[in-house]
Amino acid sequence: MTPVDCAGALLSIDLNALVENYRLIARRVAPAEVAGVVKADAYGTGASAVAAALLEAGCRRFFVAQLEEAIALKPELPDSVQLFVLNGLQPGAERHCRDAGAIPVLNSLDQIRRWSQLAQASGRTLPAALQVDSGMARLGLSPDEVRALLADRSLLEGIELVLILSHLACADDPSSAFNDKQVAAFNDFTRHFPGVSRSLDNSGGSFLNHPHYEVVRAGIALYGGAPQDSANPMHPVVSLEARIAQLRTVGPGTGVGYGLSHLAEETSHIATIPVGYADGWPRHLSNRGSAFIGGIRVPIVGRVSMDSMTLDVTHVPDMLLYPGAPVELLGPHQSIDDVAADAGTISYEILTQLGHRYRREYRLAEPAEQKRSMTA
Ligand SMILES: *Cc1c(COP(=O)(O)O)cnc(C)c1O
Repeated sequence: MTPVDCAGALLSIDLNALVENYRLIARRVAPAEVAGVVKADAYGTGASAVAAALLEAGCRRFFVAQLEEAIALKPELPDSVQLFVLNGLQPGAERHCRDAGAIPVLNSLDQIRRWSQLAQASGRTLPAALQVDSGMARLGLSPDEVRALLADRSLLEGIELVLILSHLACADDPSSAFNDKQVAAFNDFTRHFPGVSRSLDNSGGSFLNHPHYEVVRAGIALYGGAPQDSANPMHPVVSLEARIAQLRTVGPGTGVGYGLSHLAEETSHIATIPVGYADGWPRHLSNRGSAFIGGIRVPIVGRVSMDSMTLDVTHVPDMLLYPGAPVELLGPHQSIDDVAADAGTISYEILTQLGHRYRREYRLAEPAEQKRSMTA
C-alpha cells in the first residue's frame, strides 16, 4: 500500500459505518434478510474488506456481477455462504462457475439449458438463481420464456433453485406506479415456485412500502449513497482527503489550466492538488465542482487534468494554506451524492471510478484480519 506521504490523497473507508448501514436496512426490511452486493470491487471500496465486515455482521448472501469477481471472492467466504453472479452464464463459463462454487443467476432459457446439461453431466444437482424480467427489459427471462418454462419444468432438471429474483427500474422513485406493476408481475411468476426464496429489492426498493420478500440486495445504500431521491438516511462510508501540492498567487486576467478556461478576475490564490480524472475525479467538474478547506468551499477553477486540478483558495485563511495541507474532496461537507449532482451523474459512478493511486485506509472497531479468521 502506498505510504501516506507518497500518495496524492487518502481514501478512508469506514467499515463501521458500512455495518451500521447494513443493520439499518436489515431493521427496515425484517424479516427479510439483507444480501450484500459487492460487485465492481464493492463499488470501488474493496470487496475483500467489505465482505469480511458484512460477514461479521451476519450477512450470508453476496452478489457480484461477473464470474471473475466471484472466482476472486469465493475463497474468502465460508462454504455455507451463497455467492451469486448477476450477469449470468456466458457460453463456455459453466464449468468455471461450478468449480468456483459460485451460483449463477440464470437469465435466459439458453442459460438454464446449459446449466442443466452441466448438472446432468456432473451427476449432481447444481444450485442456481433464476431472474425474471418484471419490466426492465435488461436481464432475466422474457414473458415468452416464462411461458415456455412453466409449460416444461423439465428444463430445470438437475438445477436446485435457491432464489428467484427480479430488478426494479424505478426503485429510487417512491411515487412511480411502475413499482407496483413490477411487484404484481413478480408475484405472478413466483407463485409457481412456492418455497423458493424471492428477492426483488435493491437499495431503493428496500425503502419502498411494499413487500420485501425473503431477501433484499443492497448495494449503494451500504456504501452511504442515497437509496432514493429523498433525504439520505445512510451513514457516509467513504471520505477522500487530498493534500495541497503547490500554491501560487496570480494577477487579474491570468488564465488557469489547459485551455486557460478560467481567467482570474482579481488577484487570486490558486492551490493545485494531486488528484485528477485518472483518479476518478470527473473532468466534467472542470470550473464547476468544489472542494473544502477548513470547512470553507473552494471552487475548482480551470480544467481537471489527468493528475491534478486547481482550486481558488483566495478566501481561505493563510494558516490553512501550505504544501501538504489537507483538502476535503469527500467528507462532512461534500457527499458522494453532492459530487455526483455537480458532475451530472449518480453516486454509483463516482464511487466505482475511485482511483487506485490513493492510499487506502479501512476503519474498523477490530482489525479485519482478526475478524476474518474468527468467521472462517
Ligand atoms: C447492482 C444491483 C443491485 C444493487 O443495487 P443498488 O441500487 O446499488 O442497491 C441489486 N440487484 C441487481 C440485479 C443489481 O444489478
